[in-house]
Amino acid sequence: MTNKAIFMHGTNDMIWKEIDMPVVHDKDVLVKVDIVGICGSDVHYYQHGRIGDFVVNGDFILGHECAGEVVAVGKEVKNLAVGDRVALEPGKTCGKCEFCKSGQYNLCPDVEFFATPPYHGVFANYVAHPEDMCFKLPDNVSNLEGALVEPLAVGLHATGKGNVKLGDTVVIFGTGCIGLVTLLSSKARGAAKIIVVDVLPNRLETAKRLGATHVINAKEENVLSKIDEITDGQGAHVVIDTAGAEITVKQTADVVKRGGTIVLVGMTPKDEVEFNFMKLMGKEGELKTIFRYRNLYPVAINAIASGAINVKDIVSHEFDFEQTKEAFDFVVSNAKDVVKAVIKIG
Ligand SMILES: [Zn+2]
Ligand SMILES: [Zn+2]
Repeated sequence: MTNKAIFMHGTNDMIWKEIDMPVVHDKDVLVKVDIVGICGSDVHYYQHGRIGDFVVNGDFILGHECAGEVVAVGKEVKNLAVGDRVALEPGKTCGKCEFCKSGQYNLCPDVEFFATPPYHGVFANYVAHPEDMCFKLPDNVSNLEGALVEPLAVGLHATGKGNVKLGDTVVIFGTGCIGLVTLLSSKARGAAKIIVVDVLPNRLETAKRLGATHVINAKEENVLSKIDEITDGQGAHVVIDTAGAEITVKQTADVVKRGGTIVLVGMTPKDEVEFNFMKLMGKEGELKTIFRYRNLYPVAINAIASGAINVKDIVSHEFDFEQTKEAFDFVVSNAKDVVKAVIKIG
């Protein structure tokens, strides 16, 4: 077996290398990678070589949204067998800190997360991963859908934190991949009105197709008065910002209902942005944030298997492994058209 991987090689460049087969520890499984999604963070590292304090040093393998087939198991693996198809949750945590022990393992300070420097990602033929972070896919969930569990988990976490429930009105700012999985998650949790805001007409069309009841083009319409009109002046129970624009973060306080909840998901280019806390306090609104997700892979897989969430509809472009660099360059130069690109490695 040879293990080929593609590394980012400085910014906007990639090289192929043959790498050693991964060491399979007793509690690990060896996975033959089949599908890997290209995430906004991968593209950001590819273009800029860093995200905040995480800096890429030397050649680096990107990719953290993946699914594949188990081809070998460690001595102590109990619940998975060769031939099982699995989705890989990317973060290996310490299991010992207070966050891990309390189930908030996404906050573990010692997490080793795929494609977050210095830990390599999964654009390779084979990867070893702990059994307990590999989730078996039922027969009616494809590897493609398995790879999409990762972004979907973000949408499920955002809507869970916002406590989106039956009959709610939800406003979602942004129609990137995360905006759309937040939409799918809101719909699955029973939201009655889902209002999606962006400036790209084609993306707003996609949002409509995926179940948005109302879409607002912020370039053409007044967002605040339009939401006022749709909600009879009440605002939304839950407002989720995935756009990470200064203006949308600010508008969350305007459009949230009295007693409602705001969840910030999108990262703003500037660390500090202006926000009207007096307005939020006058409504007794809650302001929440999320960091990745936790305990949601089984939920996402069950939701896909049951048909509650049709996640594969967010895929807009597919490429072969050999075309990985072309795929990244395509995503960079067609950012407005690409919702989710995936690479077929298998
Ligand atoms: Zn991702
Ligand atoms: Zn920990």
